[in-house]
Amino acid sequence: MSRVYNWQLGREMSYPYDGKYPERQFAFVFNINRCIACQSCTMACKSTWTFSKGQEHMWWANVETKPYGGYPQFWDVKILDLLNQTNPDGQRWTGSVSDNGKSPYGQFSGQTIFEAGEKTLQPQSARVLGYLPSDEEWNSPNIYEDNPVGKRGIRDKLHETGEQLPVHNTWFFYLARICNHCTYPACLGACPRKAIYKRPEDGIVLLDQSECRGYRKCVEACPYKKTMYRGNTRVSEKCVACYPRVEGTDPESEGQPMETRCMAACIGQIRMQGLVRLNSDGTWAEDRQHPLYYLVHVAKVALPLYPQFGTSPNGYYIPPRWVPREYLRQMFGPGVDRAIERYNNPDRELLAVLQLFRRSNRIIFRYEIKEGPLVYEGTYRGRPVRIYNDTVIAFGKNGKELFRTTVEEPLHVRPAKHQNSI
Ligand code: SF4
Ligand code: SF4
Ligand code: SF4
Repeated sequence: MSRVYNWQLGREMSYPYDGKYPERQFAFVFNINRCIACQSCTMACKSTWTFSKGQEHMWWANVETKPYGGYPQFWDVKILDLLNQTNPDGQRWTGSVSDNGKSPYGQFSGQTIFEAGEKTLQPQSARVLGYLPSDEEWNSPNIYEDNPVGKRGIRDKLHETGEQLPVHNTWFFYLARICNHCTYPACLGACPRKAIYKRPEDGIVLLDQSECRGYRKCVEACPYKKTMYRGNTRVSEKCVACYPRVEGTDPESEGQPMETRCMAACIGQIRMQGLVRLNSDGTWAEDRQHPLYYLVHVAKVALPLYPQFGTSPNGYYIPPRWVPREYLRQMFGPGVDRAIERYNNPDRELLAVLQLFRRSNRIIFRYEIKEGPLVYEGTYRGRPVRIYNDTVIAFGKNGKELFRTTVEEPLHVRPAKHQNSI
């Protein structure tokens, strides 16, 4: 195993290969607070990439209801449990949340799937701790949709009291997922055929089906279970990050990088995708006016999904405000409290950047804010609040303006004579 730096863990860790980092990395932010589980993203991917015979069980994009739902069922509980068995009561974070870009969430002092594999698996060629889901576990992508958690220890009964922030007594939330195109992909690390590779130009992780022999080591190793085996071809498949769109070679893209199908279809406007610049050690290069850099490293409202697994996933989530913090800290790490506090009390810049989500299908490379007038002044939970109608302007790869939008949504009033028409 090599030693690589994982900034999400705030430390070095073991990985089967030396670290190699693309010039730009495919990354995305999902705002869980906005997801309505319409499954438009799920169907956009399905109808583009996995509609053929033998792919019936494959949902490269899925949306599951937490805490009970999961595709495949129990994926996160099972890997968390395996890690806990390997390192009982040792899966902890130390240090503190800070502004240090090399360890913003403190240090993870437990074991990643690579370190736990190194410690327990024989032969060493097994490389990564994981498991193969059963066929049944892949069968019901939508299992437990909309099932809430009620009073602890009592079945079939919700909590009697009304719900109020900061945490609801009865709760669930929708977790939208795709492949995280990880910086240290477990699928790649585990493949004995070297059939999986990370593209140097955009960090997209692809699986070469002509090299794959269907050993399913990637399926076993990916802690997010985002590689899938296809029985009729006997090879594995995974999300391709809609690479023709990201490259700008899709006929609709007019040569400019375009967001993926699942991002572009998002009705709830929860998704923003980008290509972020990396340093030579895999940390993010400072890019102050890039919207993803701002959300992850400046406002720090977007957090990686289960960073403790160690793959350095490139999917980031704005955590849901109403969910018990202990559950969220396990899922998104120690940065949760700070992220929710900032999202609850957004400053002027954060409010403007949140308007960039889903105004265009083109990938945003830079934003600027033009200050506007004060439109609201009041208090929120005892704190003074001021809202300004600022204009946020998005620019594409070629530096040209993609669109501009304001903090206040424009209001259109339908004329009386057309009130009931479309
Ligand atoms: S999420 Fe899984 S399949 Fe995707 S790159 Fe990471 S380890 Fe590989
Ligand atoms: S990025 Fe493309 S291939 Fe990947 S889940 Fe989304 S739609 Fe599917
Ligand atoms: S399309 Fe957007 S809002 Fe709808 S389920 Fe997917 S992520 Fe959620």
